[in-house]
Amino acid sequence: MSKILVVGNWKMNPATISEAKILAKKIKAVAPRLQNTDAVMAPPLAFASACAPQKPVKNLYLGAQFVSVESGVGPFTGEVSVDMLKSLNIQYIILGHSEQRARGETSAMVSKKMKNALEAGITPVLCVGEMNRDQDGSYLEPLKAQIKESLEGIPKKYAKEIVIAYEPVWAIGAKEAMMPDQIYETSLFVKKVFADIFTPDAGVKATILYGGSVNFRNAADIISIGKVDGFLVGRESVNAAGFVELLKTVDSVV
Ligand code: PEP
Repeated sequence: MSKILVVGNWKMNPATISEAKILAKKIKAVAPRLQNTDAVMAPPLAFASACAPQKPVKNLYLGAQFVSVESGVGPFTGEVSVDMLKSLNIQYIILGHSEQRARGETSAMVSKKMKNALEAGITPVLCVGEMNRDQDGSYLEPLKAQIKESLEGIPKKYAKEIVIAYEPVWAIGAKEAMMPDQIYETSLFVKKVFADIFTPDAGVKATILYGGSVNFRNAADIISIGKVDGFLVGRESVNAAGFVELLKTVDSVV
């Protein structure tokens, strides 16, 4: 069985480099003790080098939250390319997050970034999810369209390198996570769409994370009932004690 993957999206936190280093130190301390779990910490890019382990830490990887749609180098003020991320030893990149989509990132841009990341050998964590959920299931078609558009033009050979984070937007930053049985149902739907785009086998083997108000209290149920392959975590990822507890909890469920 493959390991559970827990990606911590620090967003625009913490405020200072010294706080970032303290948080990273605590995660570096717990990661080697995990048996069945890989952890990714995705600090703001400004803090990436300060947080990066000096030498490889077992079960721990560095992630980024942003990359340019442009590749190579050039006159693109404020942008950062995948090759630059690669040279910082960044192994995962969060793409298509609803907070980036709300700021103008389209699915066409996401698919271009996905391709750039895959070609550079960085694992993309593709965020998808409905804005609202209704009883009659009318959110399913837009969800399917979002997945298809975000993966447009990605060669089949890359299917196994892609991580999908199913994040219902209404559950992000909320009081409660989605119910684990609903997570299970929707993750099956996401796998089916993934299978239609790539191959049935790719659908079965797809790595699906859940994101949206995950914490150390609800994590065990979401893994065991929701049957996801891990989490994309926002708030709890910058709460050192909570995130360490979350990693330990997940590790003991499997
Ligand atoms: C997120 O923004 O990806 C997220 C899951 O946030 P939170 O865990 O705070 O809901």
